[in-house]
Amino acid sequence: MSRYDAIVVGGGHAGTEAALASSRMGLHTLLITMNKEKIGYTSCNPSIGGVGKGQLVKEVDALGGEMALAADASCIQYRMLNSSKGYAARSSRMQIDRKRYNDYILDKVLGQENLEVVEDEVKELITSGKVLEGVTTSSGKTYKAECVILTTGTFMNGTIHIGLEHSQGGRLGEKASLGLSESLKKLGFRVGSLKTGTPARLDGKTIDFDKLIEQPGDELIIPFSYSSKEITLPQKSCFITRTNEKTHQIIRKGLGESPLYAGKIKSTGVRYCPSIEDKIMRFPERDSHIVFLEPEGLEEGEYYPNGVSTSLPVKIQEEMYRSIPGLEKVRINKPAYGIEYDYVDPTQLYPTLEAKTVPGLFIAGQINGTTGYEEAAALGLMAGINASRKVKGEDPIVLERSQAYIGVLIDDLVTKGTKEPYRMFTSRVEYRILIREDNADSRLSEIAYKAGLIDKKRLSASREKEKNVEGAFKWLSDEKLLRLKKLKDPQVSYGQIEKEEKEAPHLSYYEKVQLEVRVKYSGYIERELSKVRKFEDLEKIRIPEGFDYSVIPSLSNEIKEKLLAVKPASLGQASRISGVTPAAISVLMVKLKKDRES
Ligand code: FAD
Repeated sequence: MSRYDAIVVGGGHAGTEAALASSRMGLHTLLITMNKEKIGYTSCNPSIGGVGKGQLVKEVDALGGEMALAADASCIQYRMLNSSKGYAARSSRMQIDRKRYNDYILDKVLGQENLEVVEDEVKELITSGKVLEGVTTSSGKTYKAECVILTTGTFMNGTIHIGLEHSQGGRLGEKASLGLSESLKKLGFRVGSLKTGTPARLDGKTIDFDKLIEQPGDELIIPFSYSSKEITLPQKSCFITRTNEKTHQIIRKGLGESPLYAGKIKSTGVRYCPSIEDKIMRFPERDSHIVFLEPEGLEEGEYYPNGVSTSLPVKIQEEMYRSIPGLEKVRINKPAYGIEYDYVDPTQLYPTLEAKTVPGLFIAGQINGTTGYEEAAALGLMAGINASRKVKGEDPIVLERSQAYIGVLIDDLVTKGTKEPYRMFTSRVEYRILIREDNADSRLSEIAYKAGLIDKKRLSASREKEKNVEGAFKWLSDEKLLRLKKLKDPQVSYGQIEKEEKEAPHLSYYEKVQLEVRVKYSGYIERELSKVRKFEDLEKIRIPEGFDYSVIPSLSNEIKEKLLAVKPASLGQASRISGVTPAAISVLMVKLKKDRES
């Protein structure tokens, strides 16, 4: 039997960030994963980032995670989404070379000091009473640790559906994780089931690209990581085509063999990423849906048809794909499929991602009910950080909603829970003008440095950026504020001023953005800051652990039940639980104040 400070179960996007953070923070860490070669594997689309997700990647980077660096090392197309909208909505997205991405993460994990990797399957959590001791594996081994971080993704009780046939599996061609779900239930956890799906992978040699609309990336490529200087790989285009009435007819005719519509799949799927059969049934008035053909790699001739995930039988899949212009002769390399898997209701976790009832057990990634690589990486990183801080006897790091998208993600999950796969969007964030892609390092570098997640060089680079922005702001403010007034004009960019005036301080892309936001949106910023200050007061009122809600007669039983289920750590968190009214918050505030004074 071996002993570690921390054990991470699962080597996906959550598990790798968790394991790297914990070992870098000094913990003797063990990563147990079912397939070593698939460490950091991208199960679905060959892309990183997107609306709301780009912000998460930037924050993971600012906190010393690897996702942004891996994306930069494998970037074959860059686009800034929402570039015509305001700065708050802008989000980066990269097409990545799947193999290079994977190799990058695998290298980092295998080369990491303090981190051991074992290929095995964790079957059970071992506890003594409610005290966590470690895990046992299917090969009969026992590993003990002070903390265990579970990041099983889509593998726990995974069932793969292709047509009316189903089989156990965590991803196509990989075994499901069996046993762990039961072990969690025995410990009293509420475990549910969710569904997701992926399209087929298509052989590029059989695609007629002349019939498609080419979509190249942006000319200006901004690396994901604040510490990457440039993107070195050549860039590739995506291609656009559309489904048509024939495609829809094929799908409608095949619905009897769709596990979704034949009642085989019972779990809830991703609302914002529905299968093509779902789109056709939910939007019958639409006679066409867009399809993006995304390259799987630089040399790789395979394409990912984004927008047409399905769990129809392979024969119908073939017919359906071939009805789409450009794909008339397409060959399917790997079929599309749907997958059902178990997740743990995240309201059973503290904002540190530690389980409320089993101290030392952290749960992160898709197992928390989320969907997407970026959400998983962010959760894994925070679980790794907080497990390390717990072992070292340090205070946890909990990011606020006004501080980071990661703060919103975790607060939403642990406060409201989720009944369908949760995806991050800019619209979930209240303080969008304060927390943006361009300033994630300014927001988080100090925290990361103090926690030992980034080195002095990274911190200095972030401070330098602040200094440059400040310097340029001062320069603009000279000469009776004339230049400042000029930049306030929505039509004028700092780049223009830089070109016109020789002595203008030269700024990098993100420094320019930061300066422009500060000048053009000062009114909005002030308004958001005053909202934050108001909310901070509620966040500061802590609710003691084990607080007895039953002694407040004016709280309805329904509200008491909701508060007891979530056990909010602060009055701010309590106010975000759905159904907990402002009146209930006032009553609680009075009671907490009385308790503090007595
Ligand atoms: P994963 O990447 O799933 O990694 C889990 C890891 O845990 C694996 O390495 C596995 O081997 C290991 N593991 C599991 N159980 C055990 C155990 N008991 N012992 C040891 N190791 C274990 N995301 C989207 O954003 N949009 C989509 O449309 C979408 N569609 C998807 C479709 C499919 C079919 C699949 C499989 C995934 C899809 N995803 C989608 C989700 C995306 O792949 C995940 O969000 C992301 O990979 C989750 O990361 P993770 O680290 O939580 O888990």
